[in-house]
Amino acid sequence: MGIISSASRNSLWRGYDYFVGKRVLSFTKISDFEYSGIVKGSQQYHVTIDVNHSRKSTCDCPLAKDKRIVCKHKVALFFAIFPHEAEALLKRAEEYEEEEEERREQHVEEIRQEVFKLSKAELRERLINALLALEENKTDYY
Ligand SMILES: [Zn+2]
Repeated sequence: MGIISSASRNSLWRGYDYFVGKRVLSFTKISDFEYSGIVKGSQQYHVTIDVNHSRKSTCDCPLAKDKRIVCKHKVALFFAIFPHEAEALLKRAEEYEEEEEERREQHVEEIRQEVFKLSKAELRERLINALLALEENKTDYY
């Protein structure tokens, strides 16, 4: 499994921010698939990543120390080594947001069309039901 696919959404985007914020201070190539680097968090952390086996990657931060968790430092180092992967991630996120917006607009249009087909009596009935549902949702919070 790759570093990106093994990272949580949170680690992925925080790692991306660390990369963009130039918090990866240095890195070196150890072998064709292993790299080590220093990433600046609240302290400077020593990170190694294995691009073939993300589980073999290490970081001495409190979250990932002695664990197989892909923390934001590993993600940041990965992006520093492979900046095109960071660009690809951002592009995918932007495309997803555009698609989401289209889906939302389409949904609004569907609702509009449905509402315009309704008779006055049906509209009253729907509005009453919608208001009651809203009230029920409100009380759910208490
Ligand atoms: Zn870490």
